[in-house]
Amino acid sequence: MKVGYIGLGIMGLPCVLNLLKAGHAVTVWSRRPDSAAAALAAGASWADSPAQLAAQVEVLVSNVSDTGDVEQVLLGEQGAVHGAQKGLVCVDMSTISPIGARDIAARLAAAGVDFLDCPVSGGQVGAVNGSLTIMVGGKAEALAKVRPALEAMGKTITHIGDSGAGQVAKACNQIAVGVGVAAVAEVMKLAKACGVDPAPVREALLGGFAQSRVLDIHGQRMIDDNYAPGFKAHLHWKDMGIVLDTARQLGIRLPEAERVAGLIGQLVEQGEGELDSAAIARLIWQQN
Ligand code: NAP
Repeated sequence: MKVGYIGLGIMGLPCVLNLLKAGHAVTVWSRRPDSAAAALAAGASWADSPAQLAAQVEVLVSNVSDTGDVEQVLLGEQGAVHGAQKGLVCVDMSTISPIGARDIAARLAAAGVDFLDCPVSGGQVGAVNGSLTIMVGGKAEALAKVRPALEAMGKTITHIGDSGAGQVAKACNQIAVGVGVAAVAEVMKLAKACGVDPAPVREALLGGFAQSRVLDIHGQRMIDDNYAPGFKAHLHWKDMGIVLDTARQLGIRLPEAERVAGLIGQLVEQGEGELDSAAIARLIWQQN
């Protein structure tokens, strides 16, 4: 397929390399031209603006930071919408608010452009291996059109529902990961307080009902006390903000998510936002 890509960071660049490897023709635009160097070296072409990019492709993927950034590249002054050809599908892989995703979808639909919210789970390793889990919100026909491109980047592609539903699934994912990290930190805290080595405790639990990737990967990080990212705390904090804002708008309480968001926020406020968010373990261990 002719694929356009915007957002060539930790997640976006390996996705572009996988699209090229799968034989798709990829054109990129980046805010800082330097960010595109590796993609261009690997065979991608360059467009001078999101609008010019949109004019050349069948599917345009954005993988930027937050809701405002997606709005800017798709609907801003030089945004993709101004160059879109008939039949263009915009696929957004960033993690943004479900309400924001619905709004963007509606504004693009008014211009005849389909939009799919396609946030991902699996982190940098999943992006490099082309094994991301992709959670899709939007029309099934639009998903069918872009599936070959998504298959170059992800292994599990699930159509969750209408616009915004992919972002709802991602918000749910971030609760499970955050609360799971806190649970694993408490496991380590209890073992250590009892004078028991947490390493064989982790090993034993990995063979039983408490098995999880959070226990496996973040449990090891905690044992090593090494929080090189991974998934940076400031991004997890952004995501927990999306979770809590959504809950607030719906008038529901998510007390476990609130507690974890508070811990991640504390980490960011004390200047440790670049660490993996599993570093909240240190805060949990310091508490009485
Ligand atoms: P990143 O390394 O910071 O990359 C973000 C890229 O987006 C940068 O290359 C930046 O461009 C571009 N960008 C941001 N705002 C822009 C704007 N307004 N206009 C144009 N370009 C803009 O972040 P990442 O880790 O790849 O994350 C990307 C998205 O995936 C985020 O929403 C994140 O929450 C989500 N995510 C990340 C992970 C993970 O493990 N890292 C896992 C799942 C989901 P320049 O370089 O040109 O400034």
